[in-house]
Amino acid sequence: MAAGTAYKALFRFYEELNDFLPAGHRKKDKTYTFKGNPAVKDSIEAQNVPHTEVDLIVVNGNPVDFNYKLRDGDRVSVYPVFETLDIRPAIKTGRKPLRVTKFILDVHLGKLARLLRMTGFDTMYRNDYEDAEIIRIGEEETRIILTRDRGILKNSRVTRGYFIRSQKPWEQIKEVINRFQLQDDIKFLCRCIKCNSPIESVEKKEVAHMLKAGTANIYSRFFKCRGCGNIYWQGSHFNRMAGYMKRLQTELRSKQSG
Ligand SMILES: [Zn+2]
Repeated sequence: MAAGTAYKALFRFYEELNDFLPAGHRKKDKTYTFKGNPAVKDSIEAQNVPHTEVDLIVVNGNPVDFNYKLRDGDRVSVYPVFETLDIRPAIKTGRKPLRVTKFILDVHLGKLARLLRMTGFDTMYRNDYEDAEIIRIGEEETRIILTRDRGILKNSRVTRGYFIRSQKPWEQIKEVINRFQLQDDIKFLCRCIKCNSPIESVEKKEVAHMLKAGTANIYSRFFKCRGCGNIYWQGSHFNRMAGYMKRLQTELRSKQSG
């Protein structure tokens, strides 16, 4: 193609990818003007959709990967990760499934971090992370980046990420569990809410000296964090967390059946 000439392709974004488009452009064909032959991945991101949200790209009826070079007159359909229906053809965008789902969260998602740890998911979070640090750790430790900042997800080093839609922590955790199909991986009381390290059951005599006399007398089951040493016991806080877990599982089930 001659340099400098402007070409056109027709794009259509499906389902929740429309969340990233301006109101007037949703669920419609959209003409995209470009020069040269850019990778389809860059053309998608130029339209504000992070590549981590994309699972399948079809050009003129054929599935392509992110490196496909856009050509004049192409008709491009872009699909999100399908939540429930497995209608994905053989060629996808080249990502391998992770063996264990692990997360790193941006600085605005502190409450979601606590809920994810409470449900047993390996979740790194600090309220002073720089974006570059989140991206580096995500890459090195194959962690899924959860963020409400789509700028992070557009970074080319990010291959695993998810843009959190809701602003409410309780909705956010359900969003994450549904998106990554983690319903069967929820484990209560296996991870420290403060530091993310595993916690383990301990004998009362091991921790009695660290507790107030009343606590040590009343309760019998104790857990200790291997990282920060925080002690958990089957008291009111524990019961409140158990209540949250029950409610979470009920609400997740009702969504599945509805
Ligand atoms: Zn801890």
